[in-house]
Amino acid sequence: MSHPTDPCPLCAPPGDEVLWQNECARVVRVDGTAQPGYTRVIWQSHVAEMTQLTPAKRQGLMDVVYLVEQIQRQELTPDKINLAALGNQVPHLHWHIIPRWRADSHFPEPIWHPTPPAERVAAWALQRPAIEALVPHYHARLIEALSAHLA
Ligand SMILES: [Zn+2]
Repeated sequence: MSHPTDPCPLCAPPGDEVLWQNECARVVRVDGTAQPGYTRVIWQSHVAEMTQLTPAKRQGLMDVVYLVEQIQRQELTPDKINLAALGNQVPHLHWHIIPRWRADSHFPEPIWHPTPPAERVAAWALQRPAIEALVPHYHARLIEALSAHLA
């Protein structure tokens, strides 16, 4: 559990692999979860809430989030995409863009559900590799799209 005086982990040099960034936001891959393609968009400066950004900056952030969502739809064809901005543990604006499949271990619960049913975990472990194989191409297309549309 983080304490208000702890250094902010999102202000530290990024430990996650950065796929793309500009002066406002960075896009990082999130590995090691049950959902292949999970991607995070992090505002570069330490701001907690969307309404602390100017409307133009807020729109710029969401343009990045929506482009990630669009490329996930095109390249990974998930059954649903979850967009989440919680920030309860790290009060530094970031969005989770999480592709979901009806067959995934946690569906239809949020991915943070601590105890997905064991039979779903086992079944998903058999299906997940085929989707994981698409992720390198998804990342390549995402970097292309971000670079083309958002300088
Ligand atoms: Zn921060």
